[in-house]
Amino acid sequence: MASETGKESSAGKIAARLHAVEVQTRSRVEFRDITGQIEHLIAESGIRDGLCAVFTPHTTAAILINENADPALHKDFDNFLRRLAPQGGDYAHNDGNCDAHLKSALIGPSKTLLIQNGRMILGTWQGVFLCEFDGPRRRAVRIKIVPD
Ligand code: ZN
Repeated sequence: MASETGKESSAGKIAARLHAVEVQTRSRVEFRDITGQIEHLIAESGIRDGLCAVFTPHTTAAILINENADPALHKDFDNFLRRLAPQGGDYAHNDGNCDAHLKSALIGPSKTLLIQNGRMILGTWQGVFLCEFDGPRRRAVRIKIVPD
């Protein structure tokens, strides 16, 4: 009988797994492409079809899916978010990083991706990014790969 929790595999079925990836960011604001690391974990898992949840357990970082072809776009994201939440603005949260909390809240700490034929379904120009808004820091990314 298959487990209700999904943690044990029944005969012939690959079990879901939770992975931990560490990312050392290098600047206060950074958009780090982690698509390759996720693709590697999916390939290793042997899972052909399912879901992949990508989550970062931080209040000043986020997970973004967007274009990974032109790095200049990161500067535009940074400028856009700075206009919405300038650093050093008049905030009630007074520890110097309120802008980073607001940017993190806008983009969100997690995304769910679809796996088909052993690969994430992504558009031609799409990649998955860890967004750093209060670096440099060591950031954790948790990735759960769940078969159908
Ligand atoms: Zn804070």
